[in-house]
Amino acid sequence: MDAKRKRIVVVGGGIGGLETISALRASGYDGALTLVAAESHLPYDRPPLSKEVLLGKTISTTLEADWAELDVDLRLGCSATGMANGLLETDGGPIDFDGLAIACGAAPIALPGAASANVRVLRTIDDALTLRAAFSAGARIVVVGAGWIGAEVATAAAAAGCHVTVLEALDAPLAGALPPEIGRATEPWYAECGIDLRLGVAVAGIDGEEVRLAGGESLQADCVVVGIGVRPATAWLAGSGVTLDERGCVVVDASLRTSVPGVVAVGDCTVWESALFETSLHVQHWDNALRAPEVAAATLLGTEATYDPVPSFWSDQLGRMLQYVGDHTVADRLLVRGDLADASWSVCWTQGARLVATLAVGRHRDIVQSRRVIAQRLPVDLDRLSDPDVSVADATAASAQG
Ligand SMILES: Cc1cc2nc3c(=O)[nH]c(=O)nc-3n(C[C@H](O)[C@H](O)[C@H](O)COP(=O)(O)OP(=O)(O)OC[C@H]3O[C@@H](n4cnc5c(N)ncnc54)[C@H](O)[C@@H]3O)c2cc1C
Repeated sequence: MDAKRKRIVVVGGGIGGLETISALRASGYDGALTLVAAESHLPYDRPPLSKEVLLGKTISTTLEADWAELDVDLRLGCSATGMANGLLETDGGPIDFDGLAIACGAAPIALPGAASANVRVLRTIDDALTLRAAFSAGARIVVVGAGWIGAEVATAAAAAGCHVTVLEALDAPLAGALPPEIGRATEPWYAECGIDLRLGVAVAGIDGEEVRLAGGESLQADCVVVGIGVRPATAWLAGSGVTLDERGCVVVDASLRTSVPGVVAVGDCTVWESALFETSLHVQHWDNALRAPEVAAATLLGTEATYDPVPSFWSDQLGRMLQYVGDHTVADRLLVRGDLADASWSVCWTQGARLVATLAVGRHRDIVQSRRVIAQRLPVDLDRLSDPDVSVADATAASAQG
């Protein structure tokens, strides 16, 4: 694209949107730049919402940016509603564009039958500040879903002195993300934090303060926090020609192009074919939204670039930090390094002799080394990898021979 006198529009004011804007300017793009952002806040970071904000350590997570230098036409509180033929429809009127970056992220899934005023979700800074105010000592907090967000919310509520119950429909925490035997390793952590974790319990409905469980029992709650997952916020793209998959993810190629010329997409709303893992990846973690924009910006500006990351994330769960790198869905074997009952351990997933993912608690070095071994597709010696006293780097077959 001619870098002059053009207009690029970015939809979504999260980390993916801001990084796309920064990458465009850093690459020398000096045309017009418009940010269409549904929230009325300047772009802010979400990971601290369930950590520092809920713990009362901060009330602002605004991302640093020199807006004057970036020279952006900021349309805050403005939602994209449709797109066709180089025109973005918004609730503030149409905007024409030469290039478009979709960075509209994801929105929480609502719990059916739970429309009471005390039922909350956690996605935005406004959600976080509302929840923080509800977390007063002695308050009865019910968290629905023992996933990444549910566990973080429960941790903060317990730290504030609330009576916390976590309801999980599956039979292990984190069961939507990890094999049950690994999720179960986090079960004792709930009791340590004074949280009542109930597994295999489905919510039948919520009426006022009453949370009705499928088995007939009821709980009383001052506040119910629903953390059962998110969906791409892409309904506005229906009929735009941008291909969405069955989950609503924007399908992008290795250069983050969508099916519509001149339109790219980044972050939580995307799915792509990973050359590294030979499978499609839909990653809803911060690192992906941070790194993809550089490639998306290059693509918009006509420079050849490909995105083939080793995904990674972290989560603060019940007093521990969990770190993950890779993609275990392609694995055929799981190796535990250490004892899952101990304070620190890691789990490695392999596909044949190839390491494809590692999850670690208190073993940061395993994560750092795994990232390199996964990215370089180094073959590993499975026996050595099972030994927690052998470093991941030393468990590579090359290292064993040397
Ligand atoms: C509470 C919480 C804690 C988290 N903790 C971690 C963590 O510990 N580690 C980790 O790796 N990840 C974590 N994440 C995930 C991480 O924050 C996301 O992966 C990241 O924010 C994705 O960035 P994004 O820019 O793709 O989307 P978002 O951050 O969702 O930003 C998208 C923006 O687009 C806006 N938008 C949506 N539709 C439209 C529209 N039609 N028009 C205009 N604007 C629109 C939305 O309002 C939103 O502001 C956490 C997320 C949450 C909510």
